[in-house]
Amino acid sequence: MNEGLLRSNPFVMQAPDLPTSLNAIAADLAEVVGKARCVVDPADLRTYECDGLTGARVRPMAVVLPETTAEVAGVVRVARRHGMPIVPRGSGTGLSGGALPVPGCLLVVLSRMNRILAVDLENRRMRVGPGVINLDVSRAIAPQGYYYAPDPSSQSVCSIGGNIAENSGGAHCLKYGFTVNHVVAATVVLADGAVVEIGSEAADPLGYDLIAAVVGSEGMVGIVTEAVVRLLRTPELTRTFFATFPSTDEAGACVSEIVAAGIVPAAVEMMDALAIEAIVKATHVDWPLDVGAALLMDVDGTRAEVEHTAAAAVAIARRTGAIEVRMPKNDAERALMWKGRKSAFAAMGRISPNYYVQDGVIPRSEISKVLREIATATAREGLRVANVFHAGDGNLHPLVLYDARVPGEEHRAEKVAGEILQICIRYGGSITGEHGVGVDKAKYMGELFGDADLETMNFVRCTFDPERAFNPNKVFPTPRLCGDVPGRYAPHAVEANDAVGRG
Ligand SMILES: Cc1cc2nc3c(=O)[nH]c(=O)nc-3n(C[C@H](O)[C@H](O)[C@H](O)COP(=O)(O)OP(=O)(O)OC[C@H]3O[C@@H](n4cnc5c(N)ncnc54)[C@H](O)[C@@H]3O)c2cc1C
Repeated sequence: MNEGLLRSNPFVMQAPDLPTSLNAIAADLAEVVGKARCVVDPADLRTYECDGLTGARVRPMAVVLPETTAEVAGVVRVARRHGMPIVPRGSGTGLSGGALPVPGCLLVVLSRMNRILAVDLENRRMRVGPGVINLDVSRAIAPQGYYYAPDPSSQSVCSIGGNIAENSGGAHCLKYGFTVNHVVAATVVLADGAVVEIGSEAADPLGYDLIAAVVGSEGMVGIVTEAVVRLLRTPELTRTFFATFPSTDEAGACVSEIVAAGIVPAAVEMMDALAIEAIVKATHVDWPLDVGAALLMDVDGTRAEVEHTAAAAVAIARRTGAIEVRMPKNDAERALMWKGRKSAFAAMGRISPNYYVQDGVIPRSEISKVLREIATATAREGLRVANVFHAGDGNLHPLVLYDARVPGEEHRAEKVAGEILQICIRYGGSITGEHGVGVDKAKYMGELFGDADLETMNFVRCTFDPERAFNPNKVFPTPRLCGDVPGRYAPHAVEANDAVGRG
């Protein structure tokens, strides 16, 4: 996935000149977490060289696996005393290099802090360690009729800490909102080892909403060591339907009309012909291969509401050109349909040796036009692109297919992936919907934001972490804040509209 990316765009950062030897650092770290949870052997460190952005690899100087907030604070103090940068890591499934080590860093792996600490169903809150796996939150409370809404496709492996750092989304975030809408409080270890409580379990706390500054901060303000998440009641009824269309044009029109009609589906996912082919080959779902696109949609709520809205949504699908509309006959069939969708990235391996996952956002109404531009840009490079995405949010995931064994293909795939982001910006969208900026997209930040915006963001970050100890050289383009900024800044479509409005 995204293999080879940074080979042609190297992530360059010198390891800091450490005043002390690795042995001295290891001894100090082992004093906090014990020898067994402190990794310094070069062979063992290779496990932690990359996250889901596998083309970028940097070996950390040391890795620790703390189990408590006090241990996290202790290792942070040791790292800072020795002048080491710090990179937090959850499950390492991130796709933008957020958990990629930086040279000479201490990698703090939070996966052992995976306990559910308190469940308060009366107030619909759960306190968890950052290493708790997303799906385990819902599993723990499903018997009582509750669940945790944000559901990234990686939910069976990714951690709540990683979700918080990336403000992760998922199929059902259209109706229920992203991680930021479901985390109410966090315990955070700052760069000087101080432990602070941010947010509140109570509704409507006083003061600035600092939890919103932590969620989506890509591990750059501190290490989350506990989080309080919001729980929802499992809806009384969920109706799922799968509709096929001649092309993504009709499927896109269907999504726009459904939302314009005031229906808020829990999820609307679109797959194009190539994505359907890969999914069918990988998961054996019984989906037709002679269609141009498909939508997988959930409508949920009370029985009375769902019967009404599902019927209205199906009628719109038929009116906008659906070839066929299928309802799953039972829970097993429904689960298989969703398994198909959620396995889509991995399924690409069935139709291509390599693929590059892109993540961009566009206004929902522009889906058809943007998909056509993406297809043209990809074809120009002699490559194929599969699309599988959160259509209701306009959050695209074009998967640029290539064969790394063919000289030049990898480079052309990277080029197209960059062009896709530029198309998203031109249509008034953004360079990431949910996978974050990390190291992968830092160079595009300067195309989306002006100097003043970037400086303001950095100012907020430095309020928490003045020395930029956490995740240095990520998210922000340099050299403005330390690296290079290819491409010229042009006003974003929203700014341009504002200017027209003001004029
Ligand atoms: C097949 C696949 C499907 C995916 N589908 C989706 C999807 O539908 N939606 C989506 O949003 N994402 C998706 N992702 C991306 C990824 O799973 C998410 O970004 C996820 O939130 C990362 O969690 P993690 O535990 O793996 O974090 P990591 O990759 O370990 O870290 C991610 C970032 O969080 C920081 N971090 C981790 N833990 C902490 C902590 N405790 N405190 C502070 N910072 C921390 C790291 O420094 C890094 O910047 C997908 C990935 C894969 C491989």
